[in-house]
Amino acid sequence: MNTDHLVIGAGIAGLSHALYLADLDPQARILLVSKVSINESNTQYAQGGIAAVMSPEDNLASHVADTLRAGDYATTEEVVRGILKCGPEIVEDLTRWGVRFDRNDQGQYHLVREGGHSHPRILHYKDYTGKHLQETLAQEAMRHPQIELMDHWMLVDLWLDEEKTTCLGGDFLALSTQEFIRVSAQTTALCTGGVGALFPKSSNPKIATGDGIAIARKNGVRTELLSYVQFHPTVYSAPDLPPFLISEALRGHGALLRDINGHRFMPEIDDRAELAPRDVVSRGILAQMNRTEASHVWLDATGFDPSDWDTYFPSIYAQCLRYGIDPSQAWIPVAPMAHYLCGGIDVDVYGRTSLDRLYALGECSHTGLHGANRLASNSLTEAVAVAKQAAQHALTLPKNTAEEAPAPQRKLLQADLSGWKAHVLTLQQELMEVGGVVKSQPGLEALEKKLTQAIAEFNSAYPEGYTNESHASLSNILSLIHAMVLESIAETRNQGVFYKSAL
Ligand SMILES: Cc1cc2nc3c(=O)[nH]c(=O)nc-3n(C[C@H](O)[C@H](O)[C@H](O)COP(=O)(O)OP(=O)(O)OC[C@H]3O[C@@H](n4cnc5c(N)ncnc54)[C@H](O)[C@@H]3O)c2cc1C
Repeated sequence: MNTDHLVIGAGIAGLSHALYLADLDPQARILLVSKVSINESNTQYAQGGIAAVMSPEDNLASHVADTLRAGDYATTEEVVRGILKCGPEIVEDLTRWGVRFDRNDQGQYHLVREGGHSHPRILHYKDYTGKHLQETLAQEAMRHPQIELMDHWMLVDLWLDEEKTTCLGGDFLALSTQEFIRVSAQTTALCTGGVGALFPKSSNPKIATGDGIAIARKNGVRTELLSYVQFHPTVYSAPDLPPFLISEALRGHGALLRDINGHRFMPEIDDRAELAPRDVVSRGILAQMNRTEASHVWLDATGFDPSDWDTYFPSIYAQCLRYGIDPSQAWIPVAPMAHYLCGGIDVDVYGRTSLDRLYALGECSHTGLHGANRLASNSLTEAVAVAKQAAQHALTLPKNTAEEAPAPQRKLLQADLSGWKAHVLTLQQELMEVGGVVKSQPGLEALEKKLTQAIAEFNSAYPEGYTNESHASLSNILSLIHAMVLESIAETRNQGVFYKSAL
């Protein structure tokens, strides 16, 4: 199968990249692929919004300074400026594609200020900006004549030239027919999202297993800061209920953190109390959970004006009610969970990876914008800004002599992998304990040995060239966890989201 531009992943990065390519070149054919149904992605769950300098009181220098500070200065101003300067124009592009952001009574954007930002600069759509973005852009892509969408197609490998320097496309497993399909393309963009689901406790959907990153690494593509996973301090935590994020906007609005016995603890840990940076709050909560031997702490938002729930937090309120808690009357059980990968496939501000004609966009990529810690609401901005710059760049490339893709040589593996799934889950649980909010060097070293052994056994258990959905997924998970653990062992500094005890 042949296309001009292959876009793998249909969250905000993939959708906006596909739309930009189509806008910029009315002849281009674009194939947009998603592992699951089109609306399941991290994007779908974003609550807060998208950061951009949109008011006369605000300016780019301030947004850049806030981003550098949040990232512990572990990046360069050039990269940060190169991405954030696109804020206002991408808001315009999103609006052109049908996205609506909340406005105030005077018709101006209703800009919110989030932790770490010196000005109100978060555009939002109530408290479900991500759902609105995902659905609006997906609709726009689905009705676009130049964009063909294939859902339930799983990327299993990249297709490279013989010298292994240029990406020619990708190999997919069509999950409904169990067929392998090779797609050749002028450019390929990995937009496959983050890694939260590698941790058993996460705000991300289950599909966020870092497939694109694992596959890029397997093909020698450079990655950076894979052990820099941001944990969100307040994710709804109750046995047998899927976690969901309780936005820090609630703490911004006055909600308090209390230990299991009702004691408010954050003022003793940091002067900024509940509004300290995410990593400080996460470590504070974890310390209380360990001290009280509890699996959560409480978020107390009972002091809100009753009308605030409907005005500012309707979807959080509705979800809490579905879970049997009325947050205007009762405290919400929360715990820190894996949330956002600050690192990923190393790219420049045009999304270019170390492999020719391969781009990486959105959460699977590492542009350097976030440094060692992401400033809230900068990730949606980054995804769209770099998707645009990548589309502009992709269209300047000289045409690669079109090669009709041969069928991939892969065969379907017939095997029951449930035993392996259970084993890998125990390794993931161990990752949460020794490589989570607070990392432990001896724990990481012990886990590394187990991973080396598991990978050797897994690889020798199945014949070369055979795979299926579970096999491909487990192989990605094992290799990526291993890379994260090795990197964590080697890291000698605590900065941003990375914290190892007894350094
Ligand atoms: C609960 C929550 C709240 C958040 N709130 C905010 C916020 O307020 N502001 C902000 O800026 N950021 C927020 N974030 C982060 C932000 O939502 C994500 O970083 C961003 O949406 C990632 O977009 P993406 O397009 O890179 O990946 P995703 O949206 O995760 O999309 C990934 C796509 O890749 C596809 N895919 C994955 N593997 C394969 C494969 N093997 N083959 C084919 N396709 C594949 C998936 O099917 C999916 O279509 C939040 C994240 C979460 C989880």
